[in-house]
Amino acid sequence: MNKWTTLLAVVLVAACSPAEAPQEKLAQAGGKPGPVPFKVSADRFADIEVLRYQVPGFEDLSLQEKKLVYYLSQAALSGRDITWDQNYRHNLLVRKTLGAIIRGSKGRRDSKSYDQLLTYAKRVWFANGIHHHYSSVKMLPEFDAATFEDMLRKTPTENLPLRKGETVDELLATLIPVLFDPAVAPIKVNLDPDVDQLATSATNFYRDVSQAEAEAFYAARINPADPRPISWGLNSQLIKDNGQLVERVWKVDGMYDPAIQHIVHWLKKAVKVAENPTQKAWLQKLISYYRSGDLSEFDAYSIAWVEDTESRADTVNGFIETYGDPLGYRGTWEGIVSIRDLVATKRIATVADQAQWFEDNSPIMDEHKKKNVVGISAKVITVVMEAGDAAPSTPIGINLPNPNWIRAEHGSKSVTLGNIIDAYQEAGAETGFHDEFMFSDEEKARYKAYGSLAYALHVDLHEVIGHASGQINPGVGTPKETLKSYSPTLEEARADLVALYYILDPKLVELGLVPSLEAGKASADRNIRNGLMMQLQRLAPGDDIQESHMRNRQLIAAWVYEKGLPDNVIEKVTAGGKTYFVIRDYDKLRGLFGQLLRELQRIKSEGDYAAGKALVETYGVKVDQGLHAEVLARSKPLNIAAYSGFIQPRLVPIEQEGEIVDVQIEYPDNFAKQMLDYEDEYAFLPVEN
Ligand code: ZN
Repeated sequence: MNKWTTLLAVVLVAACSPAEAPQEKLAQAGGKPGPVPFKVSADRFADIEVLRYQVPGFEDLSLQEKKLVYYLSQAALSGRDITWDQNYRHNLLVRKTLGAIIRGSKGRRDSKSYDQLLTYAKRVWFANGIHHHYSSVKMLPEFDAATFEDMLRKTPTENLPLRKGETVDELLATLIPVLFDPAVAPIKVNLDPDVDQLATSATNFYRDVSQAEAEAFYAARINPADPRPISWGLNSQLIKDNGQLVERVWKVDGMYDPAIQHIVHWLKKAVKVAENPTQKAWLQKLISYYRSGDLSEFDAYSIAWVEDTESRADTVNGFIETYGDPLGYRGTWEGIVSIRDLVATKRIATVADQAQWFEDNSPIMDEHKKKNVVGISAKVITVVMEAGDAAPSTPIGINLPNPNWIRAEHGSKSVTLGNIIDAYQEAGAETGFHDEFMFSDEEKARYKAYGSLAYALHVDLHEVIGHASGQINPGVGTPKETLKSYSPTLEEARADLVALYYILDPKLVELGLVPSLEAGKASADRNIRNGLMMQLQRLAPGDDIQESHMRNRQLIAAWVYEKGLPDNVIEKVTAGGKTYFVIRDYDKLRGLFGQLLRELQRIKSEGDYAAGKALVETYGVKVDQGLHAEVLARSKPLNIAAYSGFIQPRLVPIEQEGEIVDVQIEYPDNFAKQMLDYEDEYAFLPVEN
């Protein structure tokens, strides 16, 4: 649950100056043909920009390391169909149909309807399904059902994903309401507390099961007194069979077997080239868990994984984050493969080494402080491959494992995705989005000088210190149990507040992490203008904020703005018909961040649902309509994509006499082609599972 998504990254990318794109500069400088510049931006459609990232250091890996990373990447790509099916039961059918139409349309591509279909297909590819990857609302095509039917009927029948005995008419009868009827599966994850969240969510995690039934099912299994509870429901679909609730477990020989078989195949190859016995052991435990589906084996794997702090290569492969389940039990499948960034890891390690100091000096109540902050391991990684829930939209920071007891007893791994952040910064260098919402030249200069560093440090502090800090009172259940659907928003807000509080602390200067507190001010500026204005750019007029991270950011910014009004801590300025929020007193603002942090920690420690709900509903959900309209109007000329994600590199094994002698890395630049290639190479699941 502790993951920074692209939201912040997208909004923050304007951090660096063009000077930070060295290759580009090199190519332009002399007028002579230089190295071909690596173009980060690759595609732009709807509200999406597709980018590319590089993998510096890949060529320097040993052959054994390259093979390891290659096998892990194959294991990651092998699971992507699982994510599609989890998101919605008809997603694979939609994807295969769209792919078939696009492939079968050679010679007929020069039309408005084809362009509209391709755009829709790209949106679906980007979201791993028909629901928007971020808002979770169903995306409707720009073309109509008759046009779709016409294009489908012109597609060679043998290319269509027809099930045994199924006719084209029957396929159309299934697909047309799925694509075009706004009342069918309107939202993937509905967190409205006043309705049955399962009945109203399109997610495929449950079938014919009411929220009350599912909650009762797990209430009967979860023992709140168990100090080491397994993650109930994490790796299964919950269905009704003859009136009885049954879990269909995702494992070898279980649900999703064809994809999981491939994952295990590649993981077994990875075991053979593991860097060291520790890494080998957790890879073997992961395989064993995929075979048994036993969640206690998943915990054993997670413990072995978190204790491996030495290996150069790493992977996350499994059912991890539970945002996709309104009830927060079931994990969406994801795969990430990475190598350690040795230089940047030094910076984050400096933060991590001070974890106890940060805990001791935190504004939270003494009884909520950890006496011994255990095993925070932090690193910056270079991503090599992402798949499933982690792609094309990617996190920029990860903090795992999720179970609180493992974190308390064995620590957690905190990971910043360095090359992803770099790619965002390059892509956003010249958008002008931040400039539009900055009031003074001072603020602009500060952003230019320190924006990049402040951003990286904010991520470090959020992940390494934020999520790891604080403790829950004895006898109080997990936040998921006590704070329910408000838990993700409150947890992200808590971690952000730790970062905001400390980034303005002179301690960071003392540690040599920042040259001055100007970096902290740049971070505060950014969070206020983003939380109160910029992020509204991604909402449609009239919408409430649904997404946890967006709720968290508005909650913080709106709360400190309101509480600071008597002292004019943040001033709402109108100039030239434009609104700006200008911080007038950083010391008092830091105090307010501390106050809110103290309250959020109390809510988590005591499991105070009513207080948590009130905070989120009061400050995090409703949008100031006038301000929203203004943000939309000011953003429009900038043509900013609200979201971005990535094309993946391609690893190509070079073989001689059946042996891999090298692995080369390529950087494809055609998003649609990569998606169609994946359809050929990694489509392991049938359309119905
Ligand atoms: Zn987080």
